Amino acid sequence: MNRSGPLARRAPLPRSRPAVSSDESQARLLVAARSRGWCETGDGELASDWAHRKARSQGGAWSASNGVHLCRACHAWCHNRPTAARDVGLIVPAAGDPERAPVFLAPPGEPADWWLLTPAGGFVLAPYAVPPALYPPRRPR
Ligand SMILES: [Zn+2]
Repeated sequence: MNRSGPLARRAPLPRSRPAVSSDESQARLLVAARSRGWCETGDGELASDWAHRKARSQGGAWSASNGVHLCRACHAWCHNRPTAARDVGLIVPAAGDPERAPVFLAPPGEPADWWLLTPAGGFVLAPYAVPPALYPPRRPR
C-alpha cells in the first residue's frame, strides 16, 4: 500500500457501553454492605453470589431490595428449589414487588426472621410471626 501522508484523522470510535451499569454497581455495593460479606440466610458461610430475587428476565431490577447476598450452595438451592425459595421470599414472582415482599433472612447481628429489604440497602422487620417450614436451606449431610 502506498500512502502519500499521515493517516487521515477520523471521528473517535464511539465508546462502548460500560459492562456494568451504575445501578448494578450501586446495588452490589449496598447488598455487600448489608450482608457484611456473609450469606444472608445466616448459615455462617461467606457470601459469594449476588442473587436476584425477581429475575431480570421477569423485570427484576438491580436494586438492593431485589438482591440477596448468598453463598454458592444457597444460591443453587434457590434455583433447584424455586417453589421453596419463593415460599421464603428468596425468589419473587414476576407479579411481585421485591420491596414489598418479605424474605426470611438472618442479617448479620440480627435473628432469622421475615424482613423487608429497602432500596437503600437496609432491612426492617416484616409483620410475620412464624418461620417457614423449609428454612434455612440445608445441605444434605
Ligand atoms: Zn448460604
